[in-house]
Amino acid sequence: MSVSSPNFSAEGGVAGQTPSVIKPVPKPANKTGGKQLPVLPSQSTYHSYRRAIQFACFLIFVVLPFFNVMRFDIPRQRFYFAGYELWISEFGILFFSLLFLLYVIAAASMLYGRIYCGYFCPQMIFSEASLAVEERIRKFINKRFIKLPAKRRQLMSGILFYAVMLAASVFLAFVFISYFVEPRDLLGRLFTLDIRTAGGVAGAATTLIVFLDFAFLRQTFCKTVCPYGYLQGMFSDKETLLVQYRDGQAKDKICIECKKCVRVCHMGIDIRNSPYQMECIHCGECIDACEDVLGRLGKPGLIHYAWGEKGELLTDKKTPLLKRLGLRDAKRVIVSLVLLFYASGLFVVLSMRDNVLVKIAPIRAELYRLGDDGRVFNKFRMTVANRQSKDAELTLKLENLPGAQIELEQPLKLKPGEERQLQFEIVSLPQALPPGVNHFEIVSRVEPSGETSTTNMTFITPPNAPTERKPK
Ligand code: SF4
Ligand code: SF4
Repeated sequence: MSVSSPNFSAEGGVAGQTPSVIKPVPKPANKTGGKQLPVLPSQSTYHSYRRAIQFACFLIFVVLPFFNVMRFDIPRQRFYFAGYELWISEFGILFFSLLFLLYVIAAASMLYGRIYCGYFCPQMIFSEASLAVEERIRKFINKRFIKLPAKRRQLMSGILFYAVMLAASVFLAFVFISYFVEPRDLLGRLFTLDIRTAGGVAGAATTLIVFLDFAFLRQTFCKTVCPYGYLQGMFSDKETLLVQYRDGQAKDKICIECKKCVRVCHMGIDIRNSPYQMECIHCGECIDACEDVLGRLGKPGLIHYAWGEKGELLTDKKTPLLKRLGLRDAKRVIVSLVLLFYASGLFVVLSMRDNVLVKIAPIRAELYRLGDDGRVFNKFRMTVANRQSKDAELTLKLENLPGAQIELEQPLKLKPGEERQLQFEIVSLPQALPPGVNHFEIVSRVEPSGETSTTNMTFITPPNAPTERKPK
């Protein structure tokens, strides 16, 4: 058993104990040299959690656009959020919904580090899936065509892998574009191999990008291009959850230099160098790997999830529950409360929003019009918009305007997503209202939801209301 020089030492502690301070020490030279092959991760705790969460995320990613839970329909200029159809004119709600999602990611990063990258990010899920598929294809071809020369088998593996990736890219690009173009509409464009309309061109370009990404780039994207990785440094602080390596010093060292923790790491780093490496996505695969290796020797693992600089273990049962959940200081409590208020506010705003928008305004180019029979007419302009995915019927009713009626064919039938602008008149008998300005309300009722809204309005009659003219 060889003894390593750890790059982090636990002051006054050995593996499995909580050190007060973790200090960086110089990186050991790589004595093995050359590229080491990746190994399959052990099937223990964090790996199993990740697989379950990633599978659930994959299902959610595929299903979301079909149920309008979150989708930006560019052709129709609609944003679907939590089942609500937001119109581009509702910019305020739209803006605060997107801001809320950003705030959730920022708060999660502050509390739990790059847990989003390691457990939820589609780029990481598909990159890892691509590596796993490549490995399985290579094994399958090697086993099935053992008698063929190695170069032939390599060529066959490559062709099969790229064919599978191409099919997967078409599917993933379809799902991705579905977030911006209605899925059934997109399916039609896919079947007709449409590369002339904007949606078709976007689909073809996305397929190519997805293919290049998952066939070649994979985790290199996370290490080089992804802005979220760079933003991490801004969000994390001395209490953020990290993956930390700790070992005893000199003769107490437990690490056997097997480097399994390095070989399971898809980001290609050695966590023993520092817990603050920008590439680390806090996935925990190295924790499983080390526990797997040292567990066989009856020793505890040397890599752990631990909180910030103090290095309190995530699994330490003696830590109070709130601290174990990440609420470790006043700043975190405040951020969580703000998040809670923000979510409640957004929920209230969304639930108070009218699914059928009714806007009515008087047309005062002409204050009133007198009919041949002496009746008084006032003209109004109305905008109605059915901002939901089902048919609606709108009825208008007058209140506090005795003897008056609306000259409009009712109920007004509206298709899903239909917006209409129209004009109508309200007519009153001359002697029914006092001269001048009469205040009243227009109550709009939407069926089948039963939603009602009231608009305050004025009806103008001549200064001296005319007497009713006798019909000729
Ligand atoms: S060092 Fe460990 S936690 Fe960090 S990315 Fe690599 S395997 Fe995941
Ligand atoms: S897996 Fe554990 S024992 Fe092996 S090199 Fe990594 S830290 Fe050392």
